[in-house]
Amino acid sequence: MLQQIETSGQRLHNLISDMLDLARINAGKVQLERHLVNIIELCQICLKRIEPSAQHKHLHIVTAFDMRVPNVLADGQRLKQILLHLLDNAIKFTSEDGSIGIETKGDEDQRSIRVTVWDTGIGIAEEDFPQLFQPFRQVDSSLTRSYSGTGLGLILVYYLTELHGGSVSVTSKPGQGSRFTISLPWNLEHPETLSPDYVPTSVDRPMVLLAEDDLAVSDLLKKYLQRKGYQVVVAYNGAEAIEQARTVHPAIIIMDIQMPEVNGLEAIKQIRTEPALSHIPVVAVTALAMPGDRERCLTAGANVYLSKPVSLHRLSETIEGLFQQAEE
Ligand code: MN
Repeated sequence: MLQQIETSGQRLHNLISDMLDLARINAGKVQLERHLVNIIELCQICLKRIEPSAQHKHLHIVTAFDMRVPNVLADGQRLKQILLHLLDNAIKFTSEDGSIGIETKGDEDQRSIRVTVWDTGIGIAEEDFPQLFQPFRQVDSSLTRSYSGTGLGLILVYYLTELHGGSVSVTSKPGQGSRFTISLPWNLEHPETLSPDYVPTSVDRPMVLLAEDDLAVSDLLKKYLQRKGYQVVVAYNGAEAIEQARTVHPAIIIMDIQMPEVNGLEAIKQIRTEPALSHIPVVAVTALAMPGDRERCLTAGANVYLSKPVSLHRLSETIEGLFQQAEE
């Protein structure tokens, strides 16, 4: 039952965030945050994410990566969103024991990088191609249709790829499978802004300072982080967070933004002004998820911004990522 609650909650969350994304795109409010993205690494992260659902259907996963494909200047989160939508679709429309795959290919002459997600699923008739990129449409929209989902995935793929200056193409045969390819410009310019460097702090069990005023949330996060092998101290407002940071010198700070007395943004700013603390990576975790909120957190000095509801898995991935960065 817990599993079902989690799955349903996740599905609802995905639906709402897809709808919000679509609304933002339509309002011209989506801005890409471009940085150099290692395409192969990104594909592997996505594959890891979908592995359980592929295994559940006994699907065979095939990869073919073009090792010459360099880092591409793109919005990594958005690119991940594109690939996950394509992979989810591939899984959804492929029956048990079929295959799905992901391929990357660099085309130096065309100055383009192509990522293809393919499957051996039900396929799509050519006359149905135009419907693919219509919101809320599935090719089989009958009441007895066999596939769940809102049909928002592909239109997001289409818009997000266009925003990158790329394009989406489809080839498919009913009964044999489909291939969705996104082409991105082979762009090698360096980004203007790189994230700041961190000084590594190494202890056996790294200390995490968790600033969060909601008891239910802080309790959950604390237990989870402890289970992941971290030591955790909790602060219930920004002032406490600053105090604790001075006392325990944590390896990382997880900071809620809306907190009583001293809010998270002020606390981050203060921490950044103190030489003994200024190097500590800060993850802002907040329900402020409107355009501009990410920038406000980053401008205040946070290294990473995660919007609530945050997935525990994502949070620990982010923390590990920050530690890895610190070691490099
Ligand atoms: Mn709060």
